[in-house]
Amino acid sequence: MREKSFETSVVHSEHKLDVNSFKSKRTPIYQTSVFSFSDLDELEGYYSGENAYLYSRMGNPNTDGLGHTIAQLEGAPAGVAASSGMAAILAGILVVAKHGDHIIASEDLYGGTFHLLEKELKDFGIEVTFVAMEDIESVEQAIQPRTKLLYSESITNPFLRVENIGNMIELADKYELTTMIDNTFATPYLLTPFTEGVDLVVHSATKYIGGHSDVTAGVLVGRESLIQTARSKIVSLGMNLSPFEAWLAERGTKTLALRMKKQSVNAEYVAERLRNHADVEQVYYPAFVSEKGNGAIVSIKLKDRSDMHKFFAALDWIKIVPSLAGVETSVSYPVATSHRALSEDQRKKLGIDDTLVRISIGIEDEKDILYQLEAAIDHSL
Ligand SMILES: *Cc1c(COP(=O)(O)O)cnc(C)c1O
Repeated sequence: MREKSFETSVVHSEHKLDVNSFKSKRTPIYQTSVFSFSDLDELEGYYSGENAYLYSRMGNPNTDGLGHTIAQLEGAPAGVAASSGMAAILAGILVVAKHGDHIIASEDLYGGTFHLLEKELKDFGIEVTFVAMEDIESVEQAIQPRTKLLYSESITNPFLRVENIGNMIELADKYELTTMIDNTFATPYLLTPFTEGVDLVVHSATKYIGGHSDVTAGVLVGRESLIQTARSKIVSLGMNLSPFEAWLAERGTKTLALRMKKQSVNAEYVAERLRNHADVEQVYYPAFVSEKGNGAIVSIKLKDRSDMHKFFAALDWIKIVPSLAGVETSVSYPVATSHRALSEDQRKKLGIDDTLVRISIGIEDEKDILYQLEAAIDHSL
């Protein structure tokens, strides 16, 4: 039998958690906090594994469905959903690190993750060293006897550096460390880090998996043993996802391939044109992510003399959105949003300055997107 391609798999996910007596085409939303039992034998059936569900914080068909679907798309045996990308990241980290342990993380992380690692984990007694992950020698030098985890993002934010996952895995194997990759920007359409050997892959499903800016959710995938531990962390810490949000996020996966394909083509076009634009100082867009495309985020630096207030005000239907990955093209301003919490020095070190704009390319006509951006650039001068 012919194996389903990614484009087909996203539409026909195969998990069968749904005992659907009415034959509805889509999985119903099990909007229930708890499940009921008609006698003690039935109740006992939960503990013997015959009945799957007891209490929604501990498990629900919709949230489990999302975990299964993303695991399948990532080529991993198991997955678990969480209430947000941050919750999924925390659950993944707590699977491998506890008080007294040490983590090595890439220094150019999503702002929220940076804060989690630098502040919250420190308060938990977990030490983090931030390194330039591309400089694998300095990563090796940072390894301590208590080091447990190497953490990075497959495509970084906002400069779209593509992580050398092979190097990370090699080092992790040598020192018996666990590897964890945030695959939010790439999505399993472009990259599947688990199939390359990464232990834990995490997503903010709030972004491309949901795809419509209407859900906050996270997913963690990996080996069954690790995901089982993550699930128990999620249950104990109350980081579970609601059934409706899980349902929405899973619905998003059905068009993931279509959206990523169109958004990547659009992004390629915009990056190319802006690279040749006299009033754009620099364009950041990956040279190569996968055969299917290079992703849908383009960052640009405008000239120093640009008036950023005028630039943003001149964008007509392109809104300032401090997030990414919707079907609408949007812009964000890292200095004012995602990297606001960083000190001036930290921002300088990362190269995040006042002229930097991150563009999340949508599914609109690519010429319309370019026209809007060019008009705003003109207006800023
Ligand atoms: C948005 C984002 C997160 C956090 O996800 P939430 O769903 O907002 O908690 C983590 N990593 C990356 C790369 C993100 O873009």
